[in-house]
Amino acid sequence: MPELPEVETVRRGLAPVMEGARFVEVKANRSDLRWPLPKDFAKRLTGRTVTGLGRRAKYLLADLSSGEVLVMHLGMSGSFHVARDGGTSKPGVYYHERSKSRAHDHVIFEMSSGATISFNDPRRFGSMKLVPRARLDQEPLLRALGPEPLGNEFSAAMLAMACKGKNTSLKAALLDQKIVAGLGNIYVCEALNRALLSPRRKASTIASRTGAPNERAELLVAAIKAVLNEAIAAGGSSLRDHRRTDGSLGDFQHNFRVYDREGERCPTRGCNGTIRRIVQNGRSTFYCPVCQK
Ligand SMILES: [Zn+2]
Repeated sequence: MPELPEVETVRRGLAPVMEGARFVEVKANRSDLRWPLPKDFAKRLTGRTVTGLGRRAKYLLADLSSGEVLVMHLGMSGSFHVARDGGTSKPGVYYHERSKSRAHDHVIFEMSSGATISFNDPRRFGSMKLVPRARLDQEPLLRALGPEPLGNEFSAAMLAMACKGKNTSLKAALLDQKIVAGLGNIYVCEALNRALLSPRRKASTIASRTGAPNERAELLVAAIKAVLNEAIAAGGSSLRDHRRTDGSLGDFQHNFRVYDREGERCPTRGCNGTIRRIVQNGRSTFYCPVCQK
């Protein structure tokens, strides 16, 4: 599943061909993705201008001149292809290989910018929804989400308060979208390694009994922001490299410290540990049991 840095990279890749552009033609090759497409989907988009392309957690939000917002999610296997001036690109770098089969191009936007944007999704866990801008705050998909990890609201004080008294593992707390939005398995594993914190530690141990942050909370928040910013920067730079925009993997995966590196030496300076894989809440966790305490 794409994580926040990948979605942000996709947003940055789509913004130049969507923002300020009109939908000239909208083709839906089927009536549903994860859920049915909105009623009169093509009609409600055609002729409208995208006034801005934003992101909330892993949702892309295209503001339309009609006052509606097109809320898009990539799901497990979704990706966008942009064709323009005879060339194609695929914004975003994905750790897992994306489909190249045109048979899975379910929604196609012809934009007044001259770009043809195709949404490809073999497994169809992606989604598109139209929501009035004025009601976006109450949208069920977005309402329960915690703060953006790269926003000012996400701080050691906020995270510690959210983890106060929590008996769940620190890893499970970080994957809880109500605590912080958009973090997934890869970047949680990476951030915990950088912060030298065990994924098995109880979430409550980054806070005092009253919910005040301790040093662990400070280190963890700094590590989360750093790993996300570095991944976005790596994705952004790969967009300029056309060899990498067509489904091949981006640079950042080579910088994973622990994710998918079971049995390899821990990269922490001075640590002789070996990366271990364990299963927590049904998902693989990669960590170093020697330096991550
Ligand atoms: Zn280590």
